[in-house]
Parts: sequence; C-alpha cells; structure tokens
Amino acid sequence: MGKIKELELSLANKIAAGEVVERPASVVKELLENAIDAQATQIDITIKESGIQSIRVVDNGTGIEEEDIDKAFGRHATSKINNDYDLFHIRTLGFRGEALASISSVSRVTMKTCTDGMLGHEVQVENGEIIKRQPAKAKKGTDILVKDLFYNTPARLKYVKSLYTELGKITDIVNRMAMSHPNISFNLVSDDKNVLSTNGSGKTNEVMAEIYGMKIAKDLVEIKGETDDYVMNGFVCKPEHTRSNRHYISIFINGRYIKNFVLNKAIIEGYHTLLPIGRYPIAYINIEMDPILVDVNVHPTKLEVRLSKEQLLYDLINNKIKEAFRGLSLIPDTSLDQ
Ligand code: ADP
Ligand code: MG
Repeated sequence: MGKIKELELSLANKIAAGEVVERPASVVKELLENAIDAQATQIDITIKESGIQSIRVVDNGTGIEEEDIDKAFGRHATSKINNDYDLFHIRTLGFRGEALASISSVSRVTMKTCTDGMLGHEVQVENGEIIKRQPAKAKKGTDILVKDLFYNTPARLKYVKSLYTELGKITDIVNRMAMSHPNISFNLVSDDKNVLSTNGSGKTNEVMAEIYGMKIAKDLVEIKGETDDYVMNGFVCKPEHTRSNRHYISIFINGRYIKNFVLNKAIIEGYHTLLPIGRYPIAYINIEMDPILVDVNVHPTKLEVRLSKEQLLYDLINNKIKEAFRGLSLIPDTSLDQ
C-alpha cells in the first residue's frame, strides 16, 4: 500500500492560507482588492480588536451572481483570468482565486451579496465550506464579515503581534489603497473610532492630506512624466519634511502597491543632496504601463513584482523629481550632470 494521499480540501486550504493570510491586515488587503476589482466607488471597513475579533468590508460594487457564490470560495476559482494570455496581461488586483478560499478556511465568514439592489444572497462559510445560505434583501454590492480570525490555527494566532502593531498594518494598507484609488471613497472605523475617511474626489493630494495632514499636503510637489512605455504621476514632499524610514515612500504600478528597491532609490536619489543622512522623503508615485512589462505573479501577496526595463523607469522617476526641485530652485542647475 502506498503512503501518499491527496490532502483533504479543508487542510489544503489551511496550508495555502498560510501564504496569503499572514495577519489581519492581509485579510483587509484581499477584501479591498476584491471590492476595487468589483468597481466599487464606496468601501467601508469596520474592524474590531485590530481585526482579530472581526473585519467587515462593505462595497457598492457589482456583487456576485447567485450561481457564482459557491465557486467564489473555491480554491483557484476566479472570474478575473481565463488563460495564459490573461495571466500576462493582468489589469485587476486579484487573479489567483485564493483569497476567499484561504480566508474562509481560517475564520468564520458571513457574506451578503447582491447584483441588482433588490434580492441578494447571504451565506455563512466555515472551513472553506458554505454551511448556510439564504436569500436576503440587500443593497447592490458585497458585504463580507470575517470573524474569529485564526480560531482554528492557534500557531498563527500566537504569531499575531500587539493590537497596536496590527492596527498600524491595517491602517497602512487602507491608506495606500486610498492613495492609489482617489476616486473611491474609503472609510475605516476601528473599535468605533474613525481612522480614515476619503471623499472619492479623484485627487491623490487630498487623500494624502487626510493621511499625513495639511502641513505635509501643502508642501507636496506634483511630478508627471511619460516615455513610450510608461505614464508616471506622483507627489513628492519638499525636503523640509523627512522621516526616519522608507515607509512613507509609496510606489504603485497600475494601481497596485509594490515594494521595489530600485524605484525607491530612484526617488531618494531624485532628492539629490537635499535629504539629510538617514532621512527619507514622503512620496507617492504611480506608474501606468502595459501589463506585459510587469510580472506580478512572483509571490502570493503580489507585493513584489518583476519589471522589464527597470533602468528606464529609474531614469524617468529620478529625472522628473530632480526637474521639479530644480524648478523650485531647491537643486541648483549646475548639479544637472552629476
Ligand atoms: P481573485 O480576487 O484572485 O479572483 P478571490 O478568492 O479573492 O480571488 O475571489 C474569488 C472571486 O469572487 C473573484 O474572482 C470575484 O469574481 C468574486 N468576488 C470576491 N469578492 C468580490 C466582491 N467584493 N465583489 C464582487 N465579486 C467578488
Ligand atoms: Mg481577490
């Protein structure tokens, strides 16, 4: 008798969840990505105890059709890609079809969803399986409640840091999503306290004012640039406001927050000698490009990406920041060739 057997679905889901759902903030990230992909213009996030007790995300997006509800919680089940071609031309934030399966295998999920603003459906999911479903009156969109995160994976629960740290991570995710989607109105409420409200006006500097305050917002300098491959826009804060770490640098590619060492360097070096040693700027950069130029399928959290023509992008960002500061006479013209 052989010893190898296929894992039971709920166990396989829990293993996969280890990669996607590291902490409460990962749940928030995945749910926000889904709401944004569903073309929501209003997203309300309510968390209790930094998301350990509960995370609720309500959107006014497309909703999920009745026949798709079961599939949505299946592994590798997605409406966002169909074939190899799609995988290399990703425009949506999600595409792996793993989030709902993973989240619902390590928490208790209730979801109400409706596509027409009249009659929708409510389901309860546990261990990745729908345990109850019923028709429900609902607004158009999706309302998803994630309770008791990691109740069945004690090791992971132990790994979760202090409530303060976890709230910080959640706030970070929401802030960045709001910055890169200024046309969506976001509301984050934590234990009945309002943490962030954006108005969906479409202006990133207004979102940055909400996040960083008016003093910073007043000193933001807009940058814009284009090459054959890229369209870049952003706001960099004047060098009188600096921070002790790189955390205030936010880079997005096609609306997706990414971490990239080279592009970070392009921004920092764009300030030339204006930054004191060990100090970092506050900056927001968004780059739109043909999805073929960026591979987002590097890691389950989609935070790291592989870029073709990285050096060209470096030059574009670096030059535009220098140009902006030269325009304000912060960098002398003679430093141009250095
Ligand atoms: P992915 O986002 O990678 O496709 P998910 O597990 O996050 O995978 O979601 C599975 C599917 O469920 C999505 O492809 C989408 O069709 C549907 N879905 C999930 N959340 C929402 C939502 N808030 N609004 C509309 N559809 C949703
Ligand atoms: Mg998703």
